[in-house]
Amino acid sequence: MSTRLLLATRNGKKLAELQRILDAALGGHAVELVGLADVPDYPQVPETGLTFGENALLKAREGVKHTGLPTVADDSGLAVDAMNGMPGVFSARWAGRHGDDRANLELLLAQLADVPDEHRGAAFVCAAALVLPGGKEHLVDGRQTGRLLRSPRGDRGFGYDPIFVADGEVRSNAELTGEEKDAISHRGKAFRALAQVIARTLV
Ligand code: IMP
Repeated sequence: MSTRLLLATRNGKKLAELQRILDAALGGHAVELVGLADVPDYPQVPETGLTFGENALLKAREGVKHTGLPTVADDSGLAVDAMNGMPGVFSARWAGRHGDDRANLELLLAQLADVPDEHRGAAFVCAAALVLPGGKEHLVDGRQTGRLLRSPRGDRGFGYDPIFVADGEVRSNAELTGEEKDAISHRGKAFRALAQVIARTLV
């Protein structure tokens, strides 16, 4: 029988990505991954943490509390060197309205207009937490380092992908295929690290 695991998200792409990674790491369908749409509705906590890790743990603890299932949650964003790591945990609402990707990207580009090429380093960061019903907690993270362009390129991906070029790449993240991005992304790295923890603790 497979173990049920909640990924505390309504994002179908994240669910599919973690399921693919778990299947590859654990062989077959050892874990049945469900999302927030598959469990009875519960109120979402505000993401009040000052770090990605705190927010991931907040969301994973809430999942266990309301469903009794072992729960994974992730939190991610863009950390810009010239801005001391901001937008950071504010990445999704940098321009004021949660999830307005275009406005967030335009504001960031305007703020960095005077920053020369050699100082345009940035990293996507993802923290992924696993909380077990008995109270045990695990936290891992993944980073994708690179630099920021001066104008958007490409129409794949989401968020800040059109202005981010990973180290060793010439294409922006929004010019990569989904598989190419998963292989080097912060979330791909964090989920692969968590798959090892899940293999040790749940399967
Ligand atoms: P979340 O953790 O998935 O809610 O992501 C928070 C915010 O970080 C998103 O709204 C994006 O602005 C940014 N972000 C996170 N991951 C990525 C990515 O892979 N590409 C581009 N932007 C991202």
